[in-house]
Amino acid sequence: MSGGDMAKPLLGHWSTDGDPSITPAAGRTIGVLGSGDFARSLAIRLVCSGFKVVVGSRNPKRKAGLFPSAAEVTFQADAVKKTDVIFVAVFREHYSTLCDLADVLAGKILVDVSNNTEINHHKESNAEYLASLFPACTVVKGFNVVSAWTLQSGARDGNKQVLICSNNQEAKRIVAEIAQVMGFTPVDMGCMSSACEIENIPLRLLPAWKIPIFLALGLFLCFFTYNLIRQVVHPYIREQKNKLYKIPIEVVNTTLPCVAYVMLSLVYLPGVLAACSQLYYGTKYRRFPDWLDQWLQHRKQIGLLSFFCAALHAVYSLCLPMRRSHRYQLIEMAVKQAMEKKMNIWVEEEVWRMEIYISVGIIALGLLSLLAITSLPSIANSLNWREFSFIQSTLGFIALVISTLHTLTYGWSRAFDENQYKFYLPPTYTLTLLVPCTVILAKIIFVLPCIQHRLLRIRRGWEKGRYVKFVRPSTTGEYSSGETSSNV
Ligand code: NAP
Repeated sequence: MSGGDMAKPLLGHWSTDGDPSITPAAGRTIGVLGSGDFARSLAIRLVCSGFKVVVGSRNPKRKAGLFPSAAEVTFQADAVKKTDVIFVAVFREHYSTLCDLADVLAGKILVDVSNNTEINHHKESNAEYLASLFPACTVVKGFNVVSAWTLQSGARDGNKQVLICSNNQEAKRIVAEIAQVMGFTPVDMGCMSSACEIENIPLRLLPAWKIPIFLALGLFLCFFTYNLIRQVVHPYIREQKNKLYKIPIEVVNTTLPCVAYVMLSLVYLPGVLAACSQLYYGTKYRRFPDWLDQWLQHRKQIGLLSFFCAALHAVYSLCLPMRRSHRYQLIEMAVKQAMEKKMNIWVEEEVWRMEIYISVGIIALGLLSLLAITSLPSIANSLNWREFSFIQSTLGFIALVISTLHTLTYGWSRAFDENQYKFYLPPTYTLTLLVPCTVILAKIIFVLPCIQHRLLRIRRGWEKGRYVKFVRPSTTGEYSSGETSSNV
């Protein structure tokens, strides 16, 4: 698949290339009812795209100055008479005030661009309501997902997709063609019953991020509490030492890498579970359970949150030596050593551990940055499928392995030191290793030739227990038909 193919929308979109029956949209006169923010941006964009624009306002004299000189600003009825395609850039509650125009609007295409203030605010969508007010018109829902700002700044600066629906195919085609000339990618959302769904889209707040954000917050809370008990509560209870100052930086900084690391492994765990399910059932045609399906769909967001936590961890770590508490501790250690007359404090093993630990951490962060950058649509669209899957899948897995090395070199032999078990709680890093190591182990098992071969066959369509008809010679020398399982 070429990079260009990846830029295509998932749903069907129109192409007028090579169709002689379709007249070019540019040059057509387009009407706009309303003179507000959206109408103004739309008119500017239409004019720039080569359309003639006529704006219908209740007060054309006052509003004319707000529009480009190439656009004609006139009374609503006058504007409607001059064109067959009219964008209704007016709020739903004012639709009824347009009823006086019903006669002049008859037979024309009305493009409903309106949005609501709440999801499923009205029983019927705004477009259906407009259609009910003007039964002699053809209503097309569209352009509501682009903002006035996007219209003005050009499609290159915002979302390029324009979702369109209507019960009339021809009207939908005309509006799609206009969108295409304006530089947008029209997406056919089917008939008018989809209008409600299209109107809800701009009102949704980060729908794909809800689950990953809750997951990250949940993990953060768990690890934060665990680290708080180990680093603050334990010294207070056991030695009456006040370590509250550790909360804002040290405890947060030991929590962030735990979240980043576990989240990174959660990007690859659903793939492992999916492969296990395929191996178990011996088919790729069995639907995954809904929770796994959802999980697979949220991998990108989980990965980006993992990168976000890792980046914060890097910044926090860089700031550690700047803290006053750190300076006091250094001086305290120096004084102690001087009093004990210790000259050489160099511990070779500690030096090496630290050097390797930091270096591996930097590499892991670099790989995570690469994964994050290539998951951005504009970058992803410039990669072909092989490049994209190499970065996201292979390099991503390498990032998980390197993060594991980072964690192991950080922990070193602490897991075997009984002083590290505060209230019998093991060091935090040992807990974080659980899921990532399971994922790495499973991936290693999947590359064993016998497993890999079976998985590859399943992914190419082979199914366990699928019976294949074949013809075999009978004992009498005649040919007879028999059945066998293809997995034998
Ligand atoms: P706006 O700035 O308030 O403009 C609304 C326009 O409606 C007014 O300028 C007015 O123009 C006209 N209108 C006609 N009859 C009216 C009446 N009885 N009372 C009041 N005004 C009347 O709103 P907007 O931001 O342009 O939004 C217009 C439509 O576009 C809305 O349905 C909105 O949901 C949709 N939309 C807006 C955006 C955006 O980014 N702004 C994005 C997507 C969709 P005249 O005075 O000249 O008649």
